[in-house]
Amino acid sequence: MTANILFSARAALWPIYEPLITRYLTKAGISFNLATDFPADQVDYVIYAPDGGIADFTPFTRLKAVLSLWAGVEKIVGNKTLTMPLARMVDHGLADGMTEWVTGHVLRYHLGMDAQIVNPNHDWVFAPAPLAKDRKIAILGLGALGEASARALRTLNFQVSGWSRSPKEIEGVTCHHGADGLSLALNGADIVVLLLPDTPATENILNADTLALLPHGARIINPGRGPLIDDDALLAALESGQVGHATLDVFRIEPLPSEHPYWAHPNVTVTPHIASETRPVTAAQVICENIRRGENGEPFVHLVDPDLGY
Ligand code: NDP
Repeated sequence: MTANILFSARAALWPIYEPLITRYLTKAGISFNLATDFPADQVDYVIYAPDGGIADFTPFTRLKAVLSLWAGVEKIVGNKTLTMPLARMVDHGLADGMTEWVTGHVLRYHLGMDAQIVNPNHDWVFAPAPLAKDRKIAILGLGALGEASARALRTLNFQVSGWSRSPKEIEGVTCHHGADGLSLALNGADIVVLLLPDTPATENILNADTLALLPHGARIINPGRGPLIDDDALLAALESGQVGHATLDVFRIEPLPSEHPYWAHPNVTVTPHIASETRPVTAAQVICENIRRGENGEPFVHLVDPDLGY
């Protein structure tokens, strides 16, 4: 059988992915047609990004799987017309990029770099940072990206705690889970990194109550998703000094509207959803491996649980 594969993402990605997918599937011995347009009822696999424009999967009557180019699937997982398996993106390039971004922003806070980078009065203030072994970091979300970030921060000697839904064991990382585990993970954390998915269970996970568990002046780094934070609560905590600074990469509305208070806040750094992006060379391999599996009757990997929403 020849697999018909529909590439449904923004047009600029097609010339990048087409040769990669062609190469990997050919190497895997898969017979396929790959295109940006097919009659829906002839499509076996959709390579999907929300910007590809598919809203209704009902006409895709012989679809075997939807393969997301994005790690976050909140824009598709609740689509009631999607009854076929949905796989999300888990790839080394994405994890490496996130690890570098998280580590960089943690080190900015840890070393107090801003005091030297922005020093208009040329003040000579001798205030060395503590060693990383004396700095507590909490990572909420210990999945593909959270675990990779936790491991990297451990390598630098930070005290790392983490939180997930199910129990985890990560060498050197104090892992907590479940409802009771959140306060344990946050307890004493100087820096909190959010790497949870956007689901009904994680919305506003950082709110007035959970922010109050942190030491005064704690820093927040959010490369996860905007709805993880109660924005009003964060702004209030920034005003009171409970949160000393926040670095936010993701927002409820993107691009962040120009009038949003985060833009002008002196203790907020806004980055434009650039923490990590899907890297075509590695991501195409993940997509092709799932197509290979589908064509050989093997189970798909990185499947999303629609009930959990991630
Ligand atoms: P994973 O699905 O691998 O990991 C999610 C983690 O969150 C898991 O540890 C999971 O627990 C935990 N979790 C989920 N729900 C709960 C809950 N209710 N309570 C406690 N823990 C919970 O996702 P990734 O690591 O691949 O990605 C994380 C998120 O990062 C994505 O969903 C996306 O939103 C964001 N992202 C942002 C990017 C950017 O550029 N800013 C780029 C890519 C992704 P368990 O392990 O028990 O399942």
